[in-house]
Amino acid sequence: MPASSHHLSPSVIAVALPTPLRRLFDYRPGQDIPTQGWQPGMRVRVPFGTRQMVGIVIEGRDTSEVPAQQLKSVSAWLDDRPLPEDWLWLGRFTARYYQHALGDTLHQTLPVLLRQGKPLEARTRERWHATAQGLEIDLASLDRAPRQAALLALLRQHSRGLVMPALTAQDFTRAQLSALAKKNLIRHEIETLETRSAPTRGGLLAEPALPLQRQQSQALAALHESLDAFQPYLLQGVTGSGKTEVYLQLIEAIVAKGRQALVLIPEIGLTPQTLARFRKRFRVPVVALHSGLSDHERLDGWLAAMSGRAPIVIGTRSAIFTPLAKPGVIIVDEEHDGSFKQQDGLRYHARDLAVVRARRHGIPLLLGSATPSLESLAKVESGDYRRLRLDQRASRHPPAKLELVELRGRSQQGGLVPPVIEALRQTLAAGHQALVFINRRGFAPTLACHQCGWMAECPSCDARMTWHRQPPRLICHHCDRQQRLPDVCPTCASADLRPLGTGTERTEETLAALFPEVPVHRIDRDSTRRKHAFEQTLEEVRRGEPCLLVGTQMLAKGHHLPHVTLVAVVNADAGLYASDFRALEHSAQLLIQVAGRAGRAAHPGRVLVQTLHSDDPHLRLLAEQGYDVLAEQLLEERRAAALPPFRFLALARFESAKAEAATTLAESVALALRQWLEQHDLAVDCLGPVPAPMERRQNRYHVQLLLGSARRSQLHEASAWLIQWLENHRDGRRVRWSLDIDPQTL
Ligand code: ADP
Ligand code: ZN
Ligand code: ZN
Repeated sequence: MPASSHHLSPSVIAVALPTPLRRLFDYRPGQDIPTQGWQPGMRVRVPFGTRQMVGIVIEGRDTSEVPAQQLKSVSAWLDDRPLPEDWLWLGRFTARYYQHALGDTLHQTLPVLLRQGKPLEARTRERWHATAQGLEIDLASLDRAPRQAALLALLRQHSRGLVMPALTAQDFTRAQLSALAKKNLIRHEIETLETRSAPTRGGLLAEPALPLQRQQSQALAALHESLDAFQPYLLQGVTGSGKTEVYLQLIEAIVAKGRQALVLIPEIGLTPQTLARFRKRFRVPVVALHSGLSDHERLDGWLAAMSGRAPIVIGTRSAIFTPLAKPGVIIVDEEHDGSFKQQDGLRYHARDLAVVRARRHGIPLLLGSATPSLESLAKVESGDYRRLRLDQRASRHPPAKLELVELRGRSQQGGLVPPVIEALRQTLAAGHQALVFINRRGFAPTLACHQCGWMAECPSCDARMTWHRQPPRLICHHCDRQQRLPDVCPTCASADLRPLGTGTERTEETLAALFPEVPVHRIDRDSTRRKHAFEQTLEEVRRGEPCLLVGTQMLAKGHHLPHVTLVAVVNADAGLYASDFRALEHSAQLLIQVAGRAGRAAHPGRVLVQTLHSDDPHLRLLAEQGYDVLAEQLLEERRAAALPPFRFLALARFESAKAEAATTLAESVALALRQWLEQHDLAVDCLGPVPAPMERRQNRYHVQLLLGSARRSQLHEASAWLIQWLENHRDGRRVRWSLDIDPQTL
């Protein structure tokens, strides 16, 4: 839209509001349109039903379909300039691609304070200094104004100056400040809060970059070939090969050009350690956006990114929506990680949006992983992405090979078989540390009656309840329902109730009994609930005394544990025969990540993987030839089976308190869709409806319908049609439904 047209006030403006409805809402612009004119992306407060809502202006219209007498007016214009264009563009793209309501999409991607209508301004404060004149002057010359003299004396003692709150805390007044300022004895500057701790003088780097190893230099050189254009790169480097050092040196080059770097990190990876690594390297402000921030801190970070004051922005999934004044590169670390996909509400994939955003900005995109997603590997194969490899660890010890240990026919203690226990013993005897990985928190996956075979099932879900010891109770991991532990079997009254299977608590207990001379640290969601508990444990472990770690995948990723030389995986089988087509890919990635914790520093490592299927061909391929070879084979299997990344999927989910309601609706829409597809000759299949993998969850029934096509545009057409049908259909408003484009799990 040409800028001049913004100055003409349109008769109607279309506003995106935070409702699930996939439409805009028309309003009259009202009286107080900003004097500079209106623009798309400005926030307005408008009446909606009986409430007031904050919405985003999307476009002007000459007329509205709403009858004139019903058309309401904007209550207030909240901005005199629009929210950033890159944010609005990405929000609109996201809403269109994921077929989500635009109003809700924009709302979800804004900091809370902006959603509430708070001003688009950084919090600022004044910092007061003595001037050169103020430093020299004889304080006695101010003896007629003793408070001014005291104020100047105070500021003379603080070479970095003092901020306003520090001055008012000592009862100095603005009148005293103004009086001294008028005499040129003091002056102030305005500083924004989010950059307060970042000194900006003295060059970009606070510590020298590491001299790169050969492959790191090659990777960096390749990245330098395309600093000014869209080019996706896949940095495939084994765990500990120095990917982060490549990111740091790429960011250095980008920031030196006056541009910004946006770094996305998995939820579990954005630790104080990671942040510290970036902050230690750079002297410029590094803004971190994560779930631990207050609303004010989040807005500060967003504004620092938007204004360009923060050259480096690091965040988890939702940080992809952060506006950037001068985008220079987007980096996605551990690009295969599942946390980049939001699994409810606005179901977007931050890595996929990173590609879209980098293309739009015309900047490089760097995806890093030791175990890239099959999606990204397929893009390398097709020539869309350039692959850069780091095959060597900085420590020189190659990542340990996986050794498969058969579980069948062997006795177990705490889920561990004798050869693994023996290996733990040797590791501790050598003065090293060992990590036992088990992907199940709690004491045991369930409680069973040895007499009649009864098992503790969740009354609300198609799932067993997990036995927890600390504190003792049964907990459903799907709906969080909690129950007292029964003393006797509810079916046969036998007291012979035993744990079935092994969880972290049980393994911890067994190891503590087997190795009383060393500490056993358990790391899972339960043990780390207390703030900083995780970091404290890791700190202790890094001191290097022999110890055992028992943990879930919280421990698998990113953490540098230099003294761990043995990793034992309690059970590798969960993903081997799961129904989900990505299960194998994900469990291979997890195994390699866990294995990567072993032998990262002075000593080589060993990785023992317990399995009931040591002859499984996929597991053997992974163990003997590594992730790359397995991934290649999995890609071939996906191609043959016409599954992603060779086919595009959308999953419609339906849920209701009564099973029939969801099923009936899913069946009706499937029937209608099939007819429509046939009439329009679209190459889209519609599979189902079928019950979801866990049909009953929290007493609600789930069914699903899968759409698939080799043509993305056709899949999108069909999805849009399906949504429209559901929105217009009476039952579509009674049953809860959602559509997941590019679902991660089926
Ligand atoms: P990744 O991100 O691939 O897991 P990191 O970047 O964390 O690997 O590097 C692993 C370890 O190797 C770190 O301790 C890092 O400081 C060190 N390292 C990385 N690159 C170099 C290098 N060029 N020279 C020396 N040490 C390096
Ligand atoms: Zn029983
Ligand atoms: Zn449950």
